[in-house]
Amino acid sequence: MADDSSPRSLGFGTRAVHAGQKPDPSTGAVMTPIYQTSTYAQEAPGKHKGHEYSRVTNPTRSALEGNLAGLENAEHGIAFSSGVAGIDGIMKSLRPGDHVVASDDLYGGTFRLFRQVFEPFGLSFSFVDMTDLDATEAAMTDDTKLVWVETPTNPLMRIVDIEAITERANARGIDVAVDNTFASPYLQQPLALGADLVLHSATKYLGGHSDLILGAVCTNSDEWAEKLRFQIKCTGANPGPMDSFLVLRGTKTLHLRMDRHCHNARHLASFLNDHPKVGRVLYPGLESHPGHEIAKKQMDDFGGMISFELADDSMEKAVHVLKSTDVFTLAESLGGVESLIEHPASMTHASIPAEERRKIGLTDSLIRISVGVEELDDLKADLDAALQDV
Ligand SMILES: *Cc1c(COP(=O)(O)O)cnc(C)c1O
Repeated sequence: MADDSSPRSLGFGTRAVHAGQKPDPSTGAVMTPIYQTSTYAQEAPGKHKGHEYSRVTNPTRSALEGNLAGLENAEHGIAFSSGVAGIDGIMKSLRPGDHVVASDDLYGGTFRLFRQVFEPFGLSFSFVDMTDLDATEAAMTDDTKLVWVETPTNPLMRIVDIEAITERANARGIDVAVDNTFASPYLQQPLALGADLVLHSATKYLGGHSDLILGAVCTNSDEWAEKLRFQIKCTGANPGPMDSFLVLRGTKTLHLRMDRHCHNARHLASFLNDHPKVGRVLYPGLESHPGHEIAKKQMDDFGGMISFELADDSMEKAVHVLKSTDVFTLAESLGGVESLIEHPASMTHASIPAEERRKIGLTDSLIRISVGVEELDDLKADLDAALQDV
């Protein structure tokens, strides 16, 4: 299939396998080769086959970008060296004095980037609970240029109504970016709900095997795409061909993996919900979850991420659980085939000041799990054993 026409009319699984890729024109290789080159021979000055220098474009990366656009049903997919490099590229397209409304429950690295890098460069941010639409709208000012949404949020698994936020922001001429890392394009398509930009840490579900770092932005806006490609060209935020290849390999099975992640997580969430040693379980698939109805409306399933508190909210007991699992590996990150367990307050979200953590309800015993694609019974038994002595 031609890489300049993402097959939009085809189903998700077909797009995952084929979008952006065609057999290599020079050899017929069915899989896009890793074009491990920095430069390209030119026939005459300025006369080349579409690539000049790999910071700007590289064929492996271009195939990946076509694939990512296909997954999000977007006009443009733009690959970055990491998820935060993608966020950085979006933010650098703003100007000093511009204001951004962001969710108060964010990936820790996004919060750190906003607060510690872009505030000193003259952007200003308001962090709000985006499940409160009126509070979110009230935070928008004449200087607001962007609303930064994450849903489900990390680690509290709140659900933000993408369509409702976008309607309110766009009515004021403000663009909306959605970090779609937790849901993946298989479960949630923000552009179809009106968002202007979608950000992915492809390090997570898109890559799917915890073996690379890469980011992506998808958009239907030619103007945004041009700005972001310009940022990559100027700042060198491009991913390498090897990592691009690995993500391309990963996305081919995204739909298969996500089905299993969702299946395992749905069952583990209800198991934890009934467990005497467990307090609140935060999983949008549970009917008791405050965002369940919105999640049903804007997601095709509820994903592989679960957060839960212990019945006894103690940091010490949480640490005991984290040290006691065997199948679940104690590690940051998420979205790989293997199950991971982590402690937001001391690991992924330690860069959020304790006071702010408390304010948003990120408690000391909160544990986040990334449910992998292993056998459900083994995952259940592992958590059950780790919870026995707390
Ligand atoms: C990991 C992550 C990021 C950052 O992506 P990197 O690839 O690690 O730079 C951004 N947002 C969310 C929700 C993430 O989980």
